[in-house]
Amino acid sequence: MESQLNLFSKTEIKSENEIKETKTITQTSTPKTITVLEIKYKSLKEAKTEALKCTKCALCKGRTNVVFSDGIENAKLMIIGEGPGENEDLQGLPFVGKAGKYLDKIFASVNLNRKEHLYICNIVKCRPPDNRAPEESEAKACSEYLEAQIKYIDPKIVILAGAVAVKGILKMKDAKITKMRGQWIDSKDPLLAGRKIMPILHPSYLLRHEWNKAPDSPKAMMWKDIQEIRRVFDELK
Ligand code: SF4
Repeated sequence: MESQLNLFSKTEIKSENEIKETKTITQTSTPKTITVLEIKYKSLKEAKTEALKCTKCALCKGRTNVVFSDGIENAKLMIIGEGPGENEDLQGLPFVGKAGKYLDKIFASVNLNRKEHLYICNIVKCRPPDNRAPEESEAKACSEYLEAQIKYIDPKIVILAGAVAVKGILKMKDAKITKMRGQWIDSKDPLLAGRKIMPILHPSYLLRHEWNKAPDSPKAMMWKDIQEIRRVFDELK
């Protein structure tokens, strides 16, 4: 089966001004063929069981643990990052290092947490060496697990943390996270259609810019974005 995440049509991005006006970016390109949503695994449990022993790409060689997910399985809100770092690899959980704790703090500021509201995972489940970004081939090899996670968690909101997650999920090679952050994206991809998708700045980027106290600082933008996420979360039935 060809990976659904590799079938994503290119997302059409409107100009920055249009983005400001519309608040939502819509994929307007129509797929030439209708893709039938096929997921390799029959359940999330089956996908996890396979992932925990997976050797489909070279990242398996350097891992301590496969980092599948954290959070609750009936979450309305899913956060997708790029891949595990050192702490995540050691603990087998996503976003548990300094950046992860910062992410928790951001969501806690609007009373959302992993134990009650969130499901967190990554594009790749094994740690890339030296914390480099996952390669396209690695993301592709790992996509069947992420597809199963999206299908079975069935989140209403999907938050893409950082440029690598945006590029990996929306197949936008030139994605500029600083321009796309805070915008809702409607995707026509069968796996993502009907979900509210928002890119946010990666928490490690926010930590690197903590010194910046300007009104348009990354931290100020994140504060604005998390309020919008909470607003839409509250509107969910
Ligand atoms: S990163 Fe994904 S595809 Fe690669 S070995 Fe780990 S689980 Fe398998």
